[in-house]
Amino acid sequence: MTDCLFCKMVSAEIKADVVYENDNVLAFQDINPQAPVHFLVVPKRHISTINDLTDADTELVGQLFLAAKEVATKLGVAEEGYRTVMNCNALAGQSVFHIHLHVLAGRPMLWPPG
Ligand code: 5GP
Ligand code: ZN
Repeated sequence: MTDCLFCKMVSAEIKADVVYENDNVLAFQDINPQAPVHFLVVPKRHISTINDLTDADTELVGQLFLAAKEVATKLGVAEEGYRTVMNCNALAGQSVFHIHLHVLAGRPMLWPPG
């Protein structure tokens, strides 16, 4: 999608601080981190929201989590723990409409979330 911020990061039109990449997913540091560790994992293909996922995306969604685990392990936070969040639509706080898995770590996480 031409006017999508995260598609532009995938295509390297906008620079991202990349922490992981494979054929299908890209992970990069969040520009406004909410924890000492805060990166995003996105599919390279544009998907606007969780509501737009189909059965054909089952493996891709799995790859988002496997990338999260891999980077969390690489950054040394996997054992102590991390939180994954994917917001869907405005009420949940989604502001970029290309699905992305937030991965947060390095401080205690509250429950329920705000
Ligand atoms: P959402 O609110 O959609 O769940 O999360 C969007 C995330 O994208 C936010 O955490 C925000 O800080 C991050 N973000 C917004 N613009 C940019 C950007 O230009 N670069 C990076 N790396 N992250 C961004
Ligand atoms: Zn996109």
